[in-house]
Formats: sequence, C-alpha cells, structure tokens
Amino acid sequence: MDAIFYDDVETIAKAIAEDALALEAKTLLISGGAGFLGNYFIGVIEYLNSHVLKTPCHIISIDNFTSGVSYATGENKDLTTIRHDIKNPLSIGRDVHFIIHAAGLASPKFYRQHKIETIDVATLGTKNLLELARKPYVESMLYFSSSEVYGDPHPAFIPTPETYWGNVSFTGPRSNYDESKRLGEAMCVAYYQTYNLPVKAVRPFNVYGPGMRIDDYRVIPNFVSNLFRGKPLPVYGGGNRTRTFCYVTDAMTGFFKVLFSTHNGEAFNVGNDDEEISIVELAHVMNSLFSPENGVQKTKGINDAYAEGDPSRRLPDLTKIRTLLSYSPEIGLKTGLKRFYAWAKEKYGNSDLPATINCP
Ligand code: UDP
Repeated sequence: MDAIFYDDVETIAKAIAEDALALEAKTLLISGGAGFLGNYFIGVIEYLNSHVLKTPCHIISIDNFTSGVSYATGENKDLTTIRHDIKNPLSIGRDVHFIIHAAGLASPKFYRQHKIETIDVATLGTKNLLELARKPYVESMLYFSSSEVYGDPHPAFIPTPETYWGNVSFTGPRSNYDESKRLGEAMCVAYYQTYNLPVKAVRPFNVYGPGMRIDDYRVIPNFVSNLFRGKPLPVYGGGNRTRTFCYVTDAMTGFFKVLFSTHNGEAFNVGNDDEEISIVELAHVMNSLFSPENGVQKTKGINDAYAEGDPSRRLPDLTKIRTLLSYSPEIGLKTGLKRFYAWAKEKYGNSDLPATINCP
C-alpha cells in the first residue's frame, strides 16, 4: 500500500548512503518520529540498516501524538518508540550519537489550535535536546527550524538567503510558530558558542509528500482532500501569494546532508527554487492534472494565520547548500504532485476521509 513511500525511502537512502556510514552501530534519537518527516527519517535509517550498514543504527523515537499519526513500520529490534512530550526533560538509558529535533506543529491549522504547545516544543523541547547533546559522544544534532523565521520577506530579499534577518511579527497570527522557531535557532547558536556543540539547523520551504495528514490543511493535502470530495479547490484571499514546493525526497536528502556535515552552529535553507507559483495557479495545475471539473473557489482562509498573517512570497536562495553540500533538488512540481496524489488516492481515495477533514 505504501509503495510510493518505500520507493521514496530507497531514493533518499541511495542519495546519502556514503555519508550515512557514520550511522554504523550508532544510536539516533529523533523527536517527532510519528510525523510526516519523522517517518521518512525512520524509514530511511531502517532501509540503511537492511541494505547498507553492517551493524544497524538503533533509533529511539519520541512523539506525543499531538499531530503525529503513527509509525509506518511499528516498533522492532532497531526502533524503540517512546510516548513523551519533549517539552519535559527525558533521560535516555544509553549513549546517543545523533539527535534530530523534528517534533513540531508545522501546519498553520495545528499551530493556531495548539498555540502554547507550539512554543513549548520549539523552545523547551529544543533546550531539553540541546542538554542531551552536551554529552561527549554526541556527533551531530539537527534542529528543525522553518522558512517562517523569515516572516514576510521584503521584496529585496527574495530569493531569501540564510543571512536575511527576517520581517516577522512578534505578536501576529503566526508569531507563536515563527518566534519560537527563531528562539530555537538562537538557542542552538548559543549552545554551539558556549559548549562547541555540534548542532545545525535546517529551514525547510514548503515540503510535501506521502505521509502528510490528509486533514493537515496545508495547501497541497487540502487541495487533494477537496478533489476527493468533489469540491472546488479553496483559494484563500485572491490566491496571488506565492510559494515554492519541495518534494520530500529532495528535502530529506538535504536534511541528511546537513546532519552529516561539519557546519556546526549554522543554518541551511532546504527547498526547491525552481518553480515559484501562485496558489491560484497551483489550484489550476492540480485541477488540470487530476480533476478539471472541480474548479476553484476564492474564499477566506480558515484562520488568522491565513486571513492576516500569510506571507506574500516564499522562494529560497539555495546557494549555500548547493555550494557547500552539493544539494540539488530534482523533482519538478508536476512530478511531485502526481506522486503525492497517487499515494493519497491509494490511502484515502476509496475509503471514508477522516471526520476532521470537515473542520472549518
Ligand atoms: N492556501 C489556500 N488554500 C488552502 C490552503 C492554503 O489558498 O486550502 C494558501 C495559504 O493562504 C498560503 C498558501 O496556500 O498562501 C500556503 O499555505 P500552507 O498552509 O500550505 O503553508 P504556509 O506556507 O502558509 O505556511
């Protein structure tokens, strides 16, 4: 059933196989392992365990299931799962060599619903993992920041490089997400400068792919859920805001490259800089690919993060990661959309969609 997911996992594993030898016989701790990206991390490491590494890497996953759904593979001898809220300290009964802080509430729908939890996971959760990372045997920690740290970039900073300081409201509708992600990065830099901690940050730009919740409400899964329900695609506020969308195999390859790099104390944009597209154009592309009769409906965003706080353009400057880590996104928008749609159709197309899909 998850043929596309496993095919993606293989693509990612092959792209990073050489660097991934660093995981041989090590332990990797991931927060948010039951979420969209967490499941990809686990899937890739499990693939490496069975195809590349002589001695497997043991994975410890922590998730509190606020937005995470389930584990693609289930617990096994190389995967320990712990139900825990990372905002609370945690002691792990074994040496951990790699840490990935992927827990968070990335969808505006969820981070407006769980405002305080969103701040806690990016700040207290980050602090708890940074404290764990002070142990001498930790080789690398990866912190999941966000392209939202740039807020609504001034036109002179589009495409947006890592050096841009951002144009961010600290009290507006996206502030709980944006400002806590920014503080998380500040903490990583402080721990690096104080303890020489091997921590890096990634700033993902609209990553999508199989395993995203169909009731996630971010634009691609939300358009697909409306396609399945035979409804017009809801385009908020005129639809002229733009985004660049990065298919998960490209993004995951970038995340692993940063994890295995030596650029401690630094941040990297990860995304696709190829096809900046307005949301109304995206709706037309998806209609024409999958179901022309659905049409498009201009409407008001479901919450304040869309009605008032919606950035006008988002386009990464990828010079840094291309130059330093030979990152090169390969999956075009239409190819990625077709893969996501095929996966979602298989998973949801013939069954009832979850009731949460009908929330505003
Ligand atoms: N959007 C939309 N219809 C939807 C979901 C989102 O028009 O059903 C718009 C939203 O207003 C924003 C863009 O699509 O301009 C991307 O939204 P998403 O939630 O995917 O992520 P964001 O980049 O805003 O964090």
